[in-house]
Amino acid sequence: MPQETGYDPDLGNKFVFVTGGVMSGLGKGITAASLGRLLTNAGFDVTAVKVDPYLNVDAGTMNPYQHGEVYVLKDGGEVDLDLGNYERFLDVDMTSDHNVTTGKVYQEVIERERAGDYLGKTVQVIPHVTDDIKRRIREAAEGTDVCIVEIGGTVGDIEGMPYLEALRQFSHEQDEEDLLFTHVTLVPNSKNGEQKTKPTQHSVKELRSIGLQPDILVGRNPEKLADDVREKIALFCDVPTEAVFSNPDVEDIYHVPLVLEDEGLDEYVMERLAIAEDALPAAERSTEWRDIVTRDATGEVDVALVGKYALEDAYISIHESLKHAGLEKQVDVNVQWVDADEMGDEHEERLRTADGVVVPGGFGARGTAGKLDAVRYAREHDVPFLGLCLGFQLAVVEHARNVLGLEGAHSAEIDQDTPHPVIDLLPEQYDLEDLGGTMRLGAHVTEIDEGTLAERVYGATECTERHRHRYEVNPEYIERLTADDLTFSGHAGNRMEIVEREDHPFFLGTQFHPEFRSRPSRASPPFVGFLDAVMERADVAAGTEVTQ
Ligand code: GLN
Repeated sequence: MPQETGYDPDLGNKFVFVTGGVMSGLGKGITAASLGRLLTNAGFDVTAVKVDPYLNVDAGTMNPYQHGEVYVLKDGGEVDLDLGNYERFLDVDMTSDHNVTTGKVYQEVIERERAGDYLGKTVQVIPHVTDDIKRRIREAAEGTDVCIVEIGGTVGDIEGMPYLEALRQFSHEQDEEDLLFTHVTLVPNSKNGEQKTKPTQHSVKELRSIGLQPDILVGRNPEKLADDVREKIALFCDVPTEAVFSNPDVEDIYHVPLVLEDEGLDEYVMERLAIAEDALPAAERSTEWRDIVTRDATGEVDVALVGKYALEDAYISIHESLKHAGLEKQVDVNVQWVDADEMGDEHEERLRTADGVVVPGGFGARGTAGKLDAVRYAREHDVPFLGLCLGFQLAVVEHARNVLGLEGAHSAEIDQDTPHPVIDLLPEQYDLEDLGGTMRLGAHVTEIDEGTLAERVYGATECTERHRHRYEVNPEYIERLTADDLTFSGHAGNRMEIVEREDHPFFLGTQFHPEFRSRPSRASPPFVGFLDAVMERADVAAGTEVTQ
């Protein structure tokens, strides 16, 4: 019953639904985000929704080894890393409402049932759960022209069924030209290099068995799909050949929109959604994206990333932020992985040969000893240093221990019995029982002191960045810590937000996570400042084409 959940089926948006076939990890999110970028370039107001069919209410309680980094939105939403890709590709700020999870949907439906909202009815997946899914998608799309809705997982997964059923219902509730079903699937190569269509056929068959007919197929293969392969897919999957698109491997994810544009995906989508007439003429579409992402690098530098999750996705926003700074300076930033938990010779060597050191955020004790060694190394050897969240906290611990001589100083998170808890729980955290969604989260303003490195980096005396932490610099130690060249140059009330060193070419730590606001066209200031220092150390000059 649509009225029950209060959505208006006549909201005028256009929806592009993106499902995945055959296997996960195909780059479905990047494909969807790239299409969004092209529609943005054509002058449309685009947003996105990521559906995660897991039972967690949000990604905040998940180990990064499972799903990669937990991305943080300005409203404090702890969400799937795909939202980070959408924010970076579309250059928009989203809210938690743009990440629909089964946990959120069921929590709402069960709360409503307990409140008696369903008036004696049997509460069921269809229609109550599917209605709530549709309501969430429609509400997130409100006020935009096109909403891209990516369904996580692979067609056929049991958890995804209610979502696919909700999409099927959508197709009866909206005009045909308001909806487009896009299926991203794997087209593997056989041993003798032939592109095989059978897995795609099966996955489309699966979609059709639940009442969904894709309008567009995007085939992932290292190469472009051969014409006869596209024809075969079209025939078996019942779509026109023009609706079968290639999405070959590219050297950088930011090139995917360019490839899909060459393929004509954006034109086809706009035709099918009946918005082609409203699009900016092709010649007037922003070429900014192309200019930014295809700039030639004129040099390269090595940056050590000292973390504990040996998985690139666990630090994806940091990788992207370094890349954005590199795009601005026209320099390739090679990230050298240093495993803080296994500082063997190879990792030590990477740390020693790097032109800069980044210590990222993290939770728990594992790897902290290695991270502290890395901070010390950077401090003592004048290597540019950027510490983010836990990296900031450990920079303070390292100073307390090795500069001030406060033996055994630590963060109370890592050593509860430390004689010097220089990092301690935020006061409001003491009595908390739940771990989910209870950290200090989201965008907060930091006041920056004049005449500091932080002020030079931001070019301002204020910044607004996103947070995700439970611990902070212990107010009782601030005075003692602020000695021997260490300064807290950014504050939010009595909370210390930025640390820096006067005796060092570039040593900056932030309690917040600047990586969540970095965009290809607007690199994050701390990353740009850091890269400047790294380039100076490596004796690499910035490219000359820089316009920003
Ligand atoms: N574990 C630390 C805290 O909770 C740091 C958090 C982080 O790095 N995101 O304060």
